[in-house]
Amino acid sequence: AKVDGRGRFVFFEPALHEAAQARRALEFDLRAALALGQFEVFYQPKLHLLKNRLSGFEALIRWRHPVRGLVPPDLFIPLAEEVGLIARIGEWVLRAACEEAARWPGGLGVAVNVAPSQFYTGTLVPTVTAALAASGLPGHRLELEITETALLRDGAEVLRQLTALKALGVRIALDDFGTGYSSLTQLRSFPFDRVKIDRSFADDAVVVRAVAALGTSLGMGVTAEGVETADQLRRLREDGCTEAQGYHLSRPVPASDVPGIIGRYVNA
Ligand code: C2E
Ligand code: CA
Ligand code: CA
Ligand code: CA
Repeated sequence: AKVDGRGRFVFFEPALHEAAQARRALEFDLRAALALGQFEVFYQPKLHLLKNRLSGFEALIRWRHPVRGLVPPDLFIPLAEEVGLIARIGEWVLRAACEEAARWPGGLGVAVNVAPSQFYTGTLVPTVTAALAASGLPGHRLELEITETALLRDGAEVLRQLTALKALGVRIALDDFGTGYSSLTQLRSFPFDRVKIDRSFADDAVVVRAVAALGTSLGMGVTAEGVETADQLRRLREDGCTEAQGYHLSRPVPASDVPGIIGRYVNA
């Protein structure tokens, strides 16, 4: 503690100061990460529960930091959004994921997460168009996962971009459904092809049944996230989900492990 100008004690917050410094250090490294080739994309399989076969993979970014090790996306994606790096990182993920998916057998799709602020940099539609063209991936094999946060700032602008993306054949999923304020109105007002039920509801049969019934009646696919046990998988299937994703099926894996997972399910 120090004494301020008026003779009062003020408590200098070392914890706060250290946090700000750590954040600046992380931001500094993040600015260089793309050029240094420190990002990777991992892929987690998604199982179609009615056809009982793989529907595709979700692309999940990984940052392999030379000192910190693997930095989880929850730690650096929000920072990338705040400091204006998300457009370039998002473009890198889209290109990498489309190029990888173009090598997979024809029926398999790839789902790519889009951060809310990517709708407000004016680059999303041109970036997706370019990633599809460069990879040769047909638009219908790409799904973009967005969260309701994206819809809050300027819903009309987001709707305009989603409509342009759908014209390319691209599918749209509403991610993490149930965690925020997503309303039933939003589900109907935007052209979603899929709703992904957040993993915090994996054991909540009442919520799962309601969302599954609603999504299905609106013609959407219904994905259960965070499926960790065979028992959960059985119940989620009974409760009307049409797709499942989670550690029980597989953790996210590097691209080189994807053929092995595809083989395992084809031969199962
Ligand atoms: P998300 O989009 O909801 O992705 C699902 C997260 O749940 C992933 O964490 C995945 O590894 C994890 N997960 C999958 N199955 C299970 C399970 O059975 N149990 C548990 N406990 N977790 C499971 P991850 O890869 O750490 O990603 C965290 C979040 O970071 C993602 O949540 C997404 O919001 C964001 N993110 C990841 N990659 C990207 C990206 O390329 N771009 C953007 N904008 N965001 C990304
Ligand atoms: Ca997601
Ligand atoms: Ca999710
Ligand atoms: Ca999430």
